[in-house]
Amino acid sequence: MTFSDLKLSEPLIKAVKARKYDDPSPIQIETIPAILSGRDVLAASQTGTGKTAAYTLPILDLLSSKGNRAISNHVRTLILAPTRELAAQIYDSVVNYGRFLDLKSTVAYGGMKINPQMIRMTKGMDILVATPGRLLDLYRQNAVKFEQLEILVLDEADRMLNLGFSEEISEILKLIPSKRQTLMFTATFSDEVKSLASGLVKNPIEISINPQEITVDSISQWVYPVDKMKKTALFIQLLKRKPNDRVLVFTKTKNRADHLVQKLEKAGFSAVAIHGDKSQGNRTRSLEEFKSGIVSILVATDLAARGLDIDGLPLVVNFDLPHLKEDYIHRIGRTGRAGAVGQAISFVSDDEFLKLKDIERLTKQVIDRIVIPGFELETPLRESKLDVRPFKPKKPKKNKKENNLKD
Ligand code: ADP
Ligand code: MG
Repeated sequence: MTFSDLKLSEPLIKAVKARKYDDPSPIQIETIPAILSGRDVLAASQTGTGKTAAYTLPILDLLSSKGNRAISNHVRTLILAPTRELAAQIYDSVVNYGRFLDLKSTVAYGGMKINPQMIRMTKGMDILVATPGRLLDLYRQNAVKFEQLEILVLDEADRMLNLGFSEEISEILKLIPSKRQTLMFTATFSDEVKSLASGLVKNPIEISINPQEITVDSISQWVYPVDKMKKTALFIQLLKRKPNDRVLVFTKTKNRADHLVQKLEKAGFSAVAIHGDKSQGNRTRSLEEFKSGIVSILVATDLAARGLDIDGLPLVVNFDLPHLKEDYIHRIGRTGRAGAVGQAISFVSDDEFLKLKDIERLTKQVIDRIVIPGFELETPLRESKLDVRPFKPKKPKKNKKENNLKD
């Protein structure tokens, strides 16, 4: 199967060739014809499987081949994403895949001045990528109008719900035409996602690539049991053994991220942190520095790192286990992207044992442990046995803790 077999127009085939993609990925093979046919789509596949192109390519095709150009302040396609970084990344893809087409697109998220975004909207947009909060702000300022809306995309639907965006989404749904094409993408197909979908998509084509296999096979996972106080020392030792690798490392709080960066810098490593307290400009710069290799260590909290597409990352370190067990899957999904091999190492102290158990239950495996010489625990970490009971699905709810981090 090639991109030409999918009946995409020539300017899109050319753009894909320029990106050096050989063939479409499985999710792209399934979704592209479905979207081109005008149907609603509900699609789930693991992170790193190429979901962005799976909807961006056919949308660009549809917008350039039919319909009317957007008049001032109107949008033809709205792509909603849960975080600023993700919105920016999707927008980059839209621009990249659409470079041989004459379509207008823009991106809007919080943490940036709203005025320039309002001015850009006066031109009318074929595609607007936005976070839900900023979109509603723009709407309230009369900068965005939806009468011409043809396509709605919800990317990372599962994460939207985890971040408590369900109210914003309901509000947006009331504003947009009910006659439209709706596309929903998610990494996990939970019952919460299904219930959100029921109010959103009509008679959808449901596509699900390997959803039961939660973690990617190409990622080798390890647990390093360690005393809480010795995590930094262990991390520095690990870095010394892998001096040339770029490392994405997760901490459970913003404070711990900043603190770790300080310690690493003292030890002579170049590290930057991204989290919700950093300004947008700062976050973008740090990410660029990490992507280009200027700094080799990126310390992140879960929200800041969600959905980031960083090519060829060989190693993810969970300095702390995540608050939400689902985030473990999202975190380690930053490595082993698009078929490459990756390593995910989790530092687990005794107080994190129950979190480890939940993660193992969720991913249906017991993760191998390695005790690093010099870091033996006085009382060894409790043994885990595989708990085969599935988790009960929860009702979608607002996550208060993360509310202050929203756009
Ligand atoms: P997801 O949204 O499923 O996590 P992304 O859309 O971010 O995945 O894509 C992950 C990576 O795979 C990106 O670097 C993207 O450029 C690359 N990619 C997408 N489609 C293809 C393809 N057909 N062939 C090779 N690489 C691809
Ligand atoms: Mg994605």
